[in-house]
Amino acid sequence: MTRRLYIETVGCQMNMLDSELVVASLRQRGYRLVDSPKRADTILFNTCSVRQHAEDKIYSALGRLKHAKRHHPDKVIGVIGCMAQKDQHQIFERAPYVDLVVGPGQLQQIPDLIERVTLGAGRQIEVSLGRKDGTREQISRSHESYDPLRDPTMRPTPFQAYVRIQIGCDKFCTYCIVPMVRGPEQGRPPEDILAEARILVDQGTKEITLLGQTVNSYRYTAHGKTTCLSNLLESLQEIDGLDRIKFVTNYPKDMTDDLLDAVHDLSKVSPYLHVPAQSGSNRILERMKRGYTVEDYRDMMHRIRQRVPEAAVTSDFIVGFCSETENDFKQTIDLVRECRFKNCFIFKYSERPGTKGAERMDDDVPEDVKKRRNNELLAVQNEICEEENLKFLGQTVEVLVEGPSKAARKQASSENVVEQLTGRTPSDHIAVFNGNARLVGRILPVRIYDVTPFTLFGDIVTDHVGPEVYGLELASPP
Ligand code: SF4
Repeated sequence: MTRRLYIETVGCQMNMLDSELVVASLRQRGYRLVDSPKRADTILFNTCSVRQHAEDKIYSALGRLKHAKRHHPDKVIGVIGCMAQKDQHQIFERAPYVDLVVGPGQLQQIPDLIERVTLGAGRQIEVSLGRKDGTREQISRSHESYDPLRDPTMRPTPFQAYVRIQIGCDKFCTYCIVPMVRGPEQGRPPEDILAEARILVDQGTKEITLLGQTVNSYRYTAHGKTTCLSNLLESLQEIDGLDRIKFVTNYPKDMTDDLLDAVHDLSKVSPYLHVPAQSGSNRILERMKRGYTVEDYRDMMHRIRQRVPEAAVTSDFIVGFCSETENDFKQTIDLVRECRFKNCFIFKYSERPGTKGAERMDDDVPEDVKKRRNNELLAVQNEICEEENLKFLGQTVEVLVEGPSKAARKQASSENVVEQLTGRTPSDHIAVFNGNARLVGRILPVRIYDVTPFTLFGDIVTDHVGPEVYGLELASPP
């Protein structure tokens, strides 16, 4: 019997990839994806623990299912991903009608666990070991990299795909729960990554984004040979049919010259670098245990500008971290003004139980101050985005066409042959232009005629077909 699956995903690209893989493995068992929990008999929430807000959202979504479960006790409800690893049995206490709790290191077990629930075995929980529950080897083994066969129909577009190259994190920033829920940092064997990339390209993928919590710290050692990210990029460059390679998220301290040179020299590697700074104050960076100073970050930016002058750099910032003063915040604004990022993701500090920040520091910046700082920093960054985007006016950029723009999707009409399309440049700028839906998946030149802080507007450049193409002799002027 076909079972109907509904899955809701919150969080980062790692979670999006995990959901794609979970859905693919369930489809192999005969599941069909549906678009609402009402129509589903299996409901999964792939969760995030990075901010309280993301967790609250999941608990309220679970609350809304309480009655549905009472009336349809056969519905299987599962909480998977980071929150499952963090809260474990607590999820059953808060929502006793949940059937399944599965951490991100155990996702390969989901099909069997659901089957056990449906056969009447009761609640199922599978989580990995905590960071203090064994040797590094044992803990690493309990966080398995989940890499089953890929299913192109599960991706937003078949020509773009994520590829995980690393799991876990060993940096232990004091605000971050990731090292606890995703386990120790482990690089995937390069041959597995390359094999997966080749399969994706055979399936029609043109752009691959390599994923890791600190992707540029990637290392894999076997038989006395260590492969780092720049080596991996060199091998991926050789894959015929692959056009673009991106990688996220970078750790400032591991942005080596060697990697920057690879970004510059390898034609398929996008000059796009996401490198979270988190704060412009050394005092706060130290409390965050980020492992670098503002001077180190500036030095990295300087090296990026020298070695990859065409690079678009984006960053993350946390405002209102424990004890952050107006002066600390001002230094963050100064850094943002100085670095002129392509874009910044700005977050208000959210205390996470289980982190050093929560155990040892006071979350003492009032919410209204966090909000104000967030808005101020955002306004500064938006100004920079607009100024930087103005530089694209009149330029022709290469765009990978992703599909109809948001506006076009809203007013979708089958009669429209020409519609508004959207795509991305190699530097990850979003471009919007008119074109035929058949162009989706192609890389095209687009000339930019207008910009906003977040979007470039342009026209596809069509080739001029003149007499020279046909070898015609033009009459000489009299
Ligand atoms: S580097 Fe820091 S912020 Fe990033 S995942 Fe690791 S602990 Fe979290």
